Amino acid sequence: MDDQAPLESLTAHPQEQLKTLAQIPHPRIPLPADLYPDRRNSRGMDLSDVRALSALDEQWQVLSGPSIPPVTDASIESALEGAFHYTEQWRLTDVNFRAGCLEALADLLEERMPHLIALCCQEGRKSIPDGVAEVREAVDFCRYYAAQARQLFDPQALPGPTGESNQWRLRGRGVFVCISPWNFPLAIFLGQISAALVAGNTVIAKPAEQTPAIAWMATQLMYQAGIPEQALYLLAGDAGTGARLVKDSRVAGVAFTGSELTARRINQALASREAAIATLIAETGGLNAMLVDSSALLEQVVVDVLRSGFQSAGQRCSALRILLVQEDVAPALIELLRGAMDELIIGDPADLATDVGPVIDENALASLYEHIDYLEGNARLLKCCELSDSLSDTLYFAPRLYEISRIEQLSREVFGPIVHLLRFRASDLDRVIDQINATGYGLTFGIHSRISSRAQTIASRINAGNVYVNRNMIGAVVGVQPFGGSGLSGTGPKAGGPLYLTRFTNEQSISIDT
Ligand code: GLU
Repeated sequence: MDDQAPLESLTAHPQEQLKTLAQIPHPRIPLPADLYPDRRNSRGMDLSDVRALSALDEQWQVLSGPSIPPVTDASIESALEGAFHYTEQWRLTDVNFRAGCLEALADLLEERMPHLIALCCQEGRKSIPDGVAEVREAVDFCRYYAAQARQLFDPQALPGPTGESNQWRLRGRGVFVCISPWNFPLAIFLGQISAALVAGNTVIAKPAEQTPAIAWMATQLMYQAGIPEQALYLLAGDAGTGARLVKDSRVAGVAFTGSELTARRINQALASREAAIATLIAETGGLNAMLVDSSALLEQVVVDVLRSGFQSAGQRCSALRILLVQEDVAPALIELLRGAMDELIIGDPADLATDVGPVIDENALASLYEHIDYLEGNARLLKCCELSDSLSDTLYFAPRLYEISRIEQLSREVFGPIVHLLRFRASDLDRVIDQINATGYGLTFGIHSRISSRAQTIASRINAGNVYVNRNMIGAVVGVQPFGGSGLSGTGPKAGGPLYLTRFTNEQSISIDT
């Protein structure tokens, strides 16, 4: 079987994907020693190990071990029943034990880093640098939530005038269903689950249909790290599995990252149950804009637009969709962008030189073509990158830059490498901000301006969860750039932020008459 076969042969059925993945030899990915400038991961570990990717064949054997059990009515019921019955026992475990499991998991992820990067590239169609960032982020989530939990879950005395002993503490809510996306098949999958578990909830995980093998591998590592099998269940099924789970009255909460439409459906399903009111932690998409005023440093803007709009083939919910450019600098910026887009390398994600890889599947491709059909009569194509002949019939989509005339021409997130440029007059700045707010989304927003008071004013007016000034707008770092938005972009919790774990908990106060 040649090296291309795995990508071509992935089918919609998780079992078959796993079997296929288990059988293939891994492509030998060359990793020069100077790939990562600091060559250190989040814990300061030397990344030269990543070069061991070329010795991965042996590690693939792990995939030929016990495979993902098929999802059936019986397995759904048994996960619900098992998770529900173990709730109390898990909630009562010492938080230090739960945090210790996450720290052990972080160690295991680091040990397995080359393997996990390869899986992210192979099954998730990620580029190698994106794969590296993905594993690092997963490690960071585990360590950060472990540290947070140790602080947050200590009961606190609340002394006061009642003359009683008053205590306040956080406790897990019960069974959490974690539904995760294919674009961060390891980091978001583990981010949701590790937060839910360390907060004292049992978890049923429903990963994206496109990436079951990564989910399966991560779940095995969680068990290895000490998470009891009764506390965590993997159901690698389809959307119907998720729909069944969220309807069930034994479920106390859902953590979801994905489309806005699915978030609404989950919300409706939770609301219509005749059971305790469940919580929804949802992170959906964005119609994210970057505003460039005439004081901006255009060369830097170009680098940041390319990175924000086209890295990961634009398949991040943080990615840039609308580029707002003050009209007097627009001609120069467009010229620079055209030139820079000519330099983008579109190709095999396993090739280190690649800037833009394929999109995830045929559905993703079809929806991008549908969007450019719509733009045909509504927008002006400023630049379309060239695809080499060998890529034209595949899952590759050439990055494009369009010019639109009104923000209202876009009403929904387009998940791929398309940036829409809109010129604005200096006198229209406030109106432009109002219009972006009026889209109802509120995830990321970029500002390029050398007038710092203006950047501050815009940041305070814009309804976005993450605002980035004079830099790109993707790749939020756990612990220092908590990630998440509100409105159509989600229910507000910020992954990797100091309050995230609290969303997975109920509060309890105990007052004892002394
Ligand atoms: N946290 C990611 C970033 O900052 C995006 C997550 C997502 O696409 O869901 O780029």
